[in-house]
Amino acid sequence: MVHRAFIALSFIVVFEASFIHAQEKAPTWQAGVAKVVITPREFMWMSGYGARTKPAEGKVHELWAKALVLQDAPGKRCVLVTMDLVGIDRVFSEELCAELKKRHGFQRSEIMLSVSHTHCGPVVGRNLMTMYNLDEKQNQLVKSYTQELHDKLVKLVGAAQKMMTPVQISWGNGFTTFATNRRENKETDVPKLRDLGQLKGPVDHEVPVLCVRDMSGKVRTIVFGYACHATVLSFYQWCGDYPGFAQLELEKRYPEATALFFAGCGADQNPLPRRTVDLAERYGKQLGDAVEAVLKAPMANVRPAVKTAYTTVDIPFGELPSREKLVQDTASKNQYIAARAKMLLKDLEKTGTLKQNYPYPVQVWQLGSDLTWVALSGEVVVDYSLRLKEELGKIWVAGYANDVLAYIPSLRVLKEGGYEGDTSMIYYGHPCAWGPRIEELIVATVHAQVARVRK
Ligand SMILES: [Zn+2]
Repeated sequence: MVHRAFIALSFIVVFEASFIHAQEKAPTWQAGVAKVVITPREFMWMSGYGARTKPAEGKVHELWAKALVLQDAPGKRCVLVTMDLVGIDRVFSEELCAELKKRHGFQRSEIMLSVSHTHCGPVVGRNLMTMYNLDEKQNQLVKSYTQELHDKLVKLVGAAQKMMTPVQISWGNGFTTFATNRRENKETDVPKLRDLGQLKGPVDHEVPVLCVRDMSGKVRTIVFGYACHATVLSFYQWCGDYPGFAQLELEKRYPEATALFFAGCGADQNPLPRRTVDLAERYGKQLGDAVEAVLKAPMANVRPAVKTAYTTVDIPFGELPSREKLVQDTASKNQYIAARAKMLLKDLEKTGTLKQNYPYPVQVWQLGSDLTWVALSGEVVVDYSLRLKEELGKIWVAGYANDVLAYIPSLRVLKEGGYEGDTSMIYYGHPCAWGPRIEELIVATVHAQVARVRK
């Protein structure tokens, strides 16, 4: 009898031990997050508007860079770096990724760089260089800020890696409506048109949310996006605009969490009406409400598996200007056209030819089996996210990722012309508008990369 009871007891102990062992080994995500202030220490030139006539004069709140490192069950890591900045250029991005590989072992496809596109951040690197006429002092400040930013971001990713702990990840989509198609609605008419329900043009009002909870269920990291220009404000104060306020709001509501914003395909979308700090704060809260509603509702669990892909596709420009045309343009009364012509002539002298194509980056992350996250570069118009969501099902589409090289019009917007389809190319220093294959090439590349990670 005693003998039998002993056998039964040992069985229970062994069974329990193996159950605990199985629980410990249950596949899980690990995540680490870190943040760092990137507000310039000096009042240097601000990015996003050519009409500014002096450097920054103050600060509404700090600008931040944040890094979230994810590791899936088999141990593959990837890192999202978000920045409260208007843009980063290709050279900055490539140098940073090379350093992140060297120091922290990340492959290119495992690094997603994302800017909020706030128009109250500093000029960085060569981004939008023909938009500004900087003197020697300002040029020097941009150079040293850019170097400092690079160094801070490398350290930031290292700090996030040191914070890795087991987590649960889930996702969902919310909704908020302040993004307004700026090509189709006159700014001053927007309040009236909104009241009448008569706003025109395509919009993407989804608010994608990724939530990282610790094993006790506490919210630790919130990643969220929205497809709308961060252009409520255009003054001389450092400020994250509505995405900055939204991040602050969420970190207030979830004090143990870090909130990271990524911009969607909002190149032709403005937050309207705009121009006051009060409105930027109000849109921030509105976006925060949309995110909180997702966090409070049941969210879809993400299996601990990640696949990453990154490639470039050559996008041809339209008809390139001749050398004579560029020489003629150097005398243009439009200072931006003249600045672009001088820059292109320098390139022409150096290399003997103007570049026919731009190697456009396309990145895709597959999280678990359900969530496909496409990161496009440049200022992408909303047609891309609407089309890709329709063609590819459950996906998120980020813009302003990895290399903010230019506006990226759809074929429709390219044909219509205007700022997003044509004249914005001047400020980005490109020789002319994009060629007509832009949409077809980008969409085909996204499809191919999505097929790779979904395999
Ligand atoms: Zn923009």
